[in-house]
Amino acid sequence: MKGRLRTQMSFGFALIILIVVGLISLVSTILITREFESYMEKQQAEYSDDLAAGLAMQYSEANGWNVDYIHGMGMYALNDGYIIRVYDLDGGTVWDAENHDMEFCHNIMKEIEERMQSLRNGRNGQFITKEYGLESGGEVVGTAKITYYSPYYYNENAFDFVRSMNIILWVIGVLSVAAAVCVGIIFAKKITVPVVTVTEIADEISNGNYSVRADEKTGTVELKELSVSINNMAEKIERQETLRKQLTSDVAHELRTPLANLSAQLELITEGVVEPSPERINGISEEIERLSALVGELEKLQSIENNVLEKTEIDLAEVARSTAETFGTEALKNQGYTITVEGESAILCADEGKIRQVIINLLSNAVKYSPDGGRIEVAVRDRGEEVLLSVKDNGIGISEKDKPLIFERFYRTDKSRNRKTGGVGIGLTIVSAIVKAHGGKIEVESSEGQGSTFTVTLPKT
Ligand code: ADP
Repeated sequence: MKGRLRTQMSFGFALIILIVVGLISLVSTILITREFESYMEKQQAEYSDDLAAGLAMQYSEANGWNVDYIHGMGMYALNDGYIIRVYDLDGGTVWDAENHDMEFCHNIMKEIEERMQSLRNGRNGQFITKEYGLESGGEVVGTAKITYYSPYYYNENAFDFVRSMNIILWVIGVLSVAAAVCVGIIFAKKITVPVVTVTEIADEISNGNYSVRADEKTGTVELKELSVSINNMAEKIERQETLRKQLTSDVAHELRTPLANLSAQLELITEGVVEPSPERINGISEEIERLSALVGELEKLQSIENNVLEKTEIDLAEVARSTAETFGTEALKNQGYTITVEGESAILCADEGKIRQVIINLLSNAVKYSPDGGRIEVAVRDRGEEVLLSVKDNGIGISEKDKPLIFERFYRTDKSRNRKTGGVGIGLTIVSAIVKAHGGKIEVESSEGQGSTFTVTLPKT
């Protein structure tokens, strides 16, 4: 069935309830009618037998038939739909309802027949005549013929009762269906309204309005989950969108100044205002290298944010040791830097290449922001469920105000700018992205002039 969910659900609910109410009405009507019919059938047969027994008692050997009394009984029975004929032993008529008042008898029979024919179940009936031998004092004294509508018929009261019962059942049925339709509509509305709202919100999101949120207050668990999912999705897209905008403006900002610088310098050279001395060309080349490094770092960050991790089982202590070894070049040693790595083996599931990148970035910062002869200590610790990696230096340190900002893209402290360390402000953003991708966290402890310790916590799985 095609169409709106609400219409389909209302229709479905109403149909189910209609079927249920219909079945209940049908079964109860059949059962009640059948019970009532069998009750009436028994009642009528008993009435006829009782009449015969009563008639037999109207004979006495001494006075013969008490015709007056039989007449009374006969008229009474006639009103109830029983036509009585009483014969003596010789077949002579003692009393005959038809002889007495033929028209009344026929009217009664016609009325009963018409009444029963108007009923669906009454159409199979017909008038039957039952013959009884009448006995008095153990001897047969005559016969009685009793005619009535068989197997049963409804007198006026019974007929009214059946009709009222049918009306009541119909009213119950109609009311139930009306209630079913109302309840169906209310239920359908309750379910479909949140779905419609979520659809509208999804439309809004696809039109670029990421700040809309679905109302999560609904009694239905699945609908609540749907609203929560759509809200989470909207939140993520909103965050991504903010990041994207931020990145574009950051990149533009980061590139504009050095490019303007370069262009100005080249213009001065081409106009012959300044000499293209080797120092000047060197400066230009260094600036271009810095810009290339920035693009390279951005690419790295992009690949970390978009790519899945290639996790394998690694020994963090081993990885830290070999990375530090490769990092600790002769040049660094000549400048008096010492790099030490300590810690027992700590096995975890991680992307080795990316973890190496974390260590390299932290080490290169430690070197960059420490004076010549700086001491850099790398430590690895196994803490049961997780492993810790810390990189400690005795360099310039980070001020309290800079601490929360250093992991942000392109953030560089004023001090680091002054030192002209050449950093582009992405190293720690890359570290933080890798650590987050592994489900870990990074913290920094630092005091200005004393040095800094970066601690990475990674889960083992
Ligand atoms: P950069 O390329 O400038 O080093 P990072 O993202 O790696 O960019 O670092 C951001 C800023 O955090 C640096 O500019 C520096 O001011 C500060 N910083 C990072 N590591 C250290 C450290 N070990 N000691 C002092 N300052 C640090």
